Amino acid sequence: MLATGAWTDRLSSAVRLLPSKGAHLIVAAAALGDPRAAVSVPVGRQWGRFVFAAPVSDGRVLIGLTDDPYDDEELDAPPVSAEDTSFILAAVNRALRTALTERDVIGGFAGIRPLLAAPGDSFDLSRDHALVEDPVTGAIALVGGKLTTYRKMAAEAVDLAVARGGLAAGRSRIRSLPLVGATTPAGGAPAGIPPRLARRCGAEAPQVAALASGRPQLLEPVAEGVPTLGVELLFGAIHEGARSVDDLLDRRTRIGLAPAERERALPAARGAPRGGAASPARSRAAMMPRREACVRERARGEQTLNGGSRAVPWPPEVNGVSAGWLSTRARGAPRRGPRAPGPWGC
Ligand SMILES: Cc1cc2nc3c(=O)[nH]c(=O)nc-3n(C[C@H](O)[C@H](O)[C@H](O)COP(=O)(O)OP(=O)(O)OC[C@H]3O[C@@H](n4cnc5c(N)ncnc54)[C@H](O)[C@@H]3O)c2cc1C
Repeated sequence: MLATGAWTDRLSSAVRLLPSKGAHLIVAAAALGDPRAAVSVPVGRQWGRFVFAAPVSDGRVLIGLTDDPYDDEELDAPPVSAEDTSFILAAVNRALRTALTERDVIGGFAGIRPLLAAPGDSFDLSRDHALVEDPVTGAIALVGGKLTTYRKMAAEAVDLAVARGGLAAGRSRIRSLPLVGATTPAGGAPAGIPPRLARRCGAEAPQVAALASGRPQLLEPVAEGVPTLGVELLFGAIHEGARSVDDLLDRRTRIGLAPAERERALPAARGAPRGGAASPARSRAAMMPRREACVRERARGEQTLNGGSRAVPWPPEVNGVSAGWLSTRARGAPRRGPRAPGPWGC
């Protein structure tokens, strides 16, 4: 199975894509008067095309997006160019009394849409998904589509793979499976759980909050002006398999969407324990009890996400508390005395 998005035509000659870049900007909600509703603004003379400004969590407004053909090699982190920024600001400013400027932009990101090749402008190309079978390799590529249709896409792909592989399996059960963290609409934040965790982690919030047991400072923001809590970094490192500080900041927590906040969160992220040993699937499914997690953390020794490098400031601090128990040793250096429990550890 190839579920490899915009990379798929590099892996199968049966798939032909016309990749399209979509860039977003992030501004502080205060710059727009803390809006409580989104606005959609028609783009120039292009029929049916809009930009939007949508309030999202953490006091931010997401504004986007571009839709332009993209033929660059860089797919992992496509840049938000100066042209992208001017296009988005010009488009949204048509609906604003006070125009936004580049100084209001605190971050941004872009992604590449894996659109199936067809004639026409990229914003007219179909967003439908397709299952393409490669006659040479036998691989099935699941490509195109939307986030909102991923379960339908997955069910179709699994059913096709089972049929092609002649496997003895029933039809995909995804239609009856709740989403990870699904909770009832009435379910507010349970007592003692920070509303932020309830909003982001749903039914898993109590287990995430439990990582702060005995370390209440982990339920506080990791740095001034950064709303992410210490337990979110810890969860990303231990249970979501973050493999590096960058991975933790840019993918697991997405703090990195706003570079200034990333900078402030860096010391805390550097102090998070190495999570690579705990695979996301195994770890999330099990949500290891704390005692077991402690054993695993200790078994991973003194390594941190920086792989034991001494090149970073040490020891890191989270909310003024040193994460000294995780300290790295220079190769061959004598081990220090007994470690005191720190904010990340047990
Ligand atoms: C700018 C933009 C805006 C969008 N807006 C919306 C929206 O508003 N609503 C909506 O529903 N959908 C939206 N989408 C669509 C949605 O994001 C995509 O449909 C979805 O991400 C596609 O998921 P995917 O798993 O197929 O591909 P991806 O999410 O791209 O995942 C593919 C993964 O495969 C990995 N990979 C690549 N090559 C290999 C390899 N050789 N081995 C192992 N792994 C590999 C990549 O690292 C990547 O993690 C948007 C997409 C973009 C780009």
